Amino acid sequence: MQGTITTTRREQVAIHTYTSPESGLAVNTHVIELASQLLILDTQYGLPFAVEAAEFAASLGKPITRVYVSHAHPDHFFGAGVFNTPVHALPSTRETIAAAGDVMLAGNKAAVGDFVPDKVTVPTIDVEPGVEVIDGVRFEFAAVTQTEAEAMLIIELADEGVVLAQDLVYDNLHLYLAEKHLAGWRTSVEELRSKGFSTVLPGHGAPGGPELYDYVLAYLDVAEPALANATNGAELKSTLLTAFPRAGGAGLLDIQNGYLFPTA
Ligand SMILES: [Zn+2]
Repeated sequence: MQGTITTTRREQVAIHTYTSPESGLAVNTHVIELASQLLILDTQYGLPFAVEAAEFAASLGKPITRVYVSHAHPDHFFGAGVFNTPVHALPSTRETIAAAGDVMLAGNKAAVGDFVPDKVTVPTIDVEPGVEVIDGVRFEFAAVTQTEAEAMLIIELADEGVVLAQDLVYDNLHLYLAEKHLAGWRTSVEELRSKGFSTVLPGHGAPGGPELYDYVLAYLDVAEPALANATNGAELKSTLLTAFPRAGGAGLLDIQNGYLFPTA
């Protein structure tokens, strides 16, 4: 296996976090194992890694009943078709993927070819924020707006002290700033921290605890003025690389510069 699995085990649930290697953006697919079924949260960018995550899920010997996509970024939804299960998402995420997914895929196909799937799998089932009990476990689905993406689904397992925070939190990787909601991102991370979850499962990188919030907030402290003051992509990239020399995912800095400085 090229990816890594980190398992967070509680009495009624085990969450197996599949993290792709850096060539797959270190993005996570969380396999939520309940008594009788598996739920999947996020589906990878690279096809080989989606297949690996699906093979790992199959090895658990329980049916996958739902796939969730947290937000409308390619690294989270491109691999959805591999899981052969209806895809759930927030309505605005479904609408964005339906409207723009093919354009995103065409752009990525041009860049990386068969590394990404041949077609977009559009979510068909809307997630309603609120509480749902599944296999005896209380899930709270929350829609967080204007952070790393316009809309982000996060899943709180309050009874287990676990939050699946997705791209509100990265572990020791460069953050994707292209949507420019840095102030909203900070506020949402601070709000999430105040809820006191002991285990934080990020969208990219290894699971951890509340210290993951500190990394994101420290990154935003540097990134906010850097983004406001940079006159070109090279300048922004250099500031971030200098401030966070040990952060992975430097490839994301070039991708986001394509959006932030389109003429550069
Ligand atoms: Zn992401």
